[in-house]
Amino acid sequence: MAIVVMKFGGTSVADIGRIRSVARHVKREIDAKNQVAVVVSAMAGHTNQLVAWVREASLIHDAREYDAVVASGEQITAGLLAIVLQSMGIPARSWQGWQIPILTDAAHGAARIIDIKADELKARLAQGEVAVVTGFQGLEPKRNRISTLGRGGSDTSAVALAIALGADVCDIYTDVDGVYTTDPRIVPSARRLPRISYEEMLEMASLGSKVLQTRSVELAMVHRMRTRVLSSFTDPEALQPVRSGSEWQNIGTIVCDEEEIVESQVVSGIAYAKDEAKVTIMNVADKPGVAAAIFGPLAEANINVDMIVQNLSADGKYTDVTFTVNASDLPKTLEVLKNAREQIGYSEIKSSADVVKVSVIGVGMRSHAGVAAKMFKALAEKGINILAITTSEIKISVLIDAAYAELAVRTLHTLFGLDKD
Ligand code: ASP
Ligand code: MG
Repeated sequence: MAIVVMKFGGTSVADIGRIRSVARHVKREIDAKNQVAVVVSAMAGHTNQLVAWVREASLIHDAREYDAVVASGEQITAGLLAIVLQSMGIPARSWQGWQIPILTDAAHGAARIIDIKADELKARLAQGEVAVVTGFQGLEPKRNRISTLGRGGSDTSAVALAIALGADVCDIYTDVDGVYTTDPRIVPSARRLPRISYEEMLEMASLGSKVLQTRSVELAMVHRMRTRVLSSFTDPEALQPVRSGSEWQNIGTIVCDEEEIVESQVVSGIAYAKDEAKVTIMNVADKPGVAAAIFGPLAEANINVDMIVQNLSADGKYTDVTFTVNASDLPKTLEVLKNAREQIGYSEIKSSADVVKVSVIGVGMRSHAGVAAKMFKALAEKGINILAITTSEIKISVLIDAAYAELAVRTLHTLFGLDKD
């Protein structure tokens, strides 16, 4: 007997037909005598609609009321799934964040889970009742208000609940059947990864692979919660129920410890992010304090700077500084730099959002030299110019012109032996 948390995303609960299919997935686990908590998202498109209504009501709005509105989508799906389960003879009860409660901090719109009081749920699961929990939302206890965890936050609700319940696994059901070596829409020969380490998944998630919310991966990593990504569109009866301790059916992708991955490659995946923008500050003085004058005001304005390149100055006096920010932060960035022109001292600012960041990721890089050299050479041979580079222990990212994104991803996918044979 295992404790299982099953999370279903928006496309998996898009209509009543899909919700019935979700209920069959739940029934499979209940029939195997597992204890089941389900976390649901809002029906596909509903949260977008709610956000749009809030903005239409007023572009500037109270964050607590934003949360009151956008948290409502999950309430609908939780209730509907409980009704369908009950109609199948399965005892089930819906739970909203405040009813459990799932306690969060006060950062409305992007709240963090602080604690989950799971005793009541545990007792009910043990009696065979399915708990259907609203994803994405919690309760901010000081003001006693509903909070939400940021877009895609249901993944984080699921992992946090799995940790609180001491679950054997957190199964994330989505519309793809796992995590791929890269986006299969760009590279048809992309392969499903049977396993991926927490560290690699974290890089994938933060570098643009939208399968899991980044925070959910952080949480799973810290608590070593085994998390599986699988498709809710698979025939529910074709899947084996979870059994604690036994072998796993070769389905989906298991996010787990590095040590549990037997056949690991040097590079596990290629990610790309389109929402980057490049800013170049021309002719700044090449002297101490200039970088601080540039990046200090940006940090104060809460703008995240990603890649930074400073050119060598030919004359030892002036240089150019290039960096990237999220494309949505570009207007604010330009404004901050304009206001700080006096302190920084520059001749001109150039910017472009027509860039993408392509990254190769793999824990194997820790023990293999030469990955970067190989990558740069392959890109050069295709005539792709590198605008900026950043690296970490397990990843190398390059910024290139957007026009070359697909060519670069395909080239690197083949280069590192990731194509399906
Ligand atoms: N419904 C929320 C969203 O669309 C949360 C989620 O689905 O994870 O962002
Ligand atoms: Mg999602």
